[in-house]
Amino acid sequence: MGGAVPRRRLRAKPAPGLALHHICGKGTTERQKANKMGFGFQISARDGRARTGVITTPRGDIRTPAFMPVGTAATVKAMMPESVRDTGADILLGNTYHLMLRPTAERIAALGGLHKFMNWQRPILTDSGGFQVMSLSSLRKLSEEGVRFSSHIDGARHMLTPERSMEIQRLLGSDIVMCFDECPALPADRKAIEASMQLSMRWAQRSRDAFGDRPGHALFGIQQGGLEEDLRAASAEKLRAIGFDGYAIGGLAVGEGQEAMLGVLDYAPAQLPDDKPRYLMGVGKPDDIVGAVERGVDMFDCVLPSRSGRTGQGWTARGPVNMRNARHRDDPRPLEEGCTCPACRNYSRAYLHHVIKSDEIIGSMLLTWHNLTYYQRLMQGLRDAIAAGQLAKFVTEFHAQRALGDIEPI
Ligand SMILES: [Zn+2]
Repeated sequence: MGGAVPRRRLRAKPAPGLALHHICGKGTTERQKANKMGFGFQISARDGRARTGVITTPRGDIRTPAFMPVGTAATVKAMMPESVRDTGADILLGNTYHLMLRPTAERIAALGGLHKFMNWQRPILTDSGGFQVMSLSSLRKLSEEGVRFSSHIDGARHMLTPERSMEIQRLLGSDIVMCFDECPALPADRKAIEASMQLSMRWAQRSRDAFGDRPGHALFGIQQGGLEEDLRAASAEKLRAIGFDGYAIGGLAVGEGQEAMLGVLDYAPAQLPDDKPRYLMGVGKPDDIVGAVERGVDMFDCVLPSRSGRTGQGWTARGPVNMRNARHRDDPRPLEEGCTCPACRNYSRAYLHHVIKSDEIIGSMLLTWHNLTYYQRLMQGLRDAIAAGQLAKFVTEFHAQRALGDIEPI
């Protein structure tokens, strides 16, 4: 990481005499003090349960509520990193599972870390690999130690443990590191969810221990417990006792449906510390995000805007638009009137329809650019509304616009 370390981070290192155990062995107070120099969270306004503020990191600020585009394999597909930044993104998500298999964390570290490797100098959050190892790999064997599995790429055998996940995320140079956890698919019976949650909490402690003291870098715990309020409370209590820089609400958006998810979000954020960022993993559609922000969530990630951009779906204030539909064939209007992205500024619906139907690469590029721009515009709207104490009005207008559906055909 040598040459890539910014000055501010060098200053953030603890004094030589400051023994490690003073920071990582004595609860959260000393660790918070150390992290004040590099990583922090300030809430600037509240509206109901919603909050807006800034997460500060040595690599730049993250305005919350924040949406993180997903850069699975060290790229947000179909986008240059400069373009991702132009959409308004302050932070990207990278996937530990994919990067550990190819090109490997060791190779990325030798090449100067993930920021340099993918030419994104702003903050990066990496997941722990726990979710994807369960959903993508084969021949999985779960034990107290971790997960043994076969790569979906070449069948090679690997082992992922809390300690190995912390090592990989350190090698990548991730700014926000996620605890290694186990996420059961829903529906699952209560017994299975409870056992899985308890295992994740033991892994959370091991993740905390293995992470150690890394000023300027944050470690987030992940709450589990499925749809069971008391299990969520027990999980939150355990995480608070260990002490983290932020807290994710895990185990949602795994097939339970929006109503059940928002039901959990009616109580889960309040179980977590108020003064730390709260991150809802893997969410979601625009209306999921709006509902979660209303309930006090600060951070989101989802492949939806980029993935649907590659399949011809555009997201607008009036809902999703299928650009493959022949109704756009002769339409000279932009995908979304007033949008500042290049797809809307310079191209017609007719052109977008044509390049998508023709499987031209620029079709994926333009629609992804638009979708990420729409998502960031939505987040800016939410932040502004919370700051102005106008969130309820914003949400009413958001739903009213979507109820209109797409603009009338020409
Ligand atoms: Zn646009």
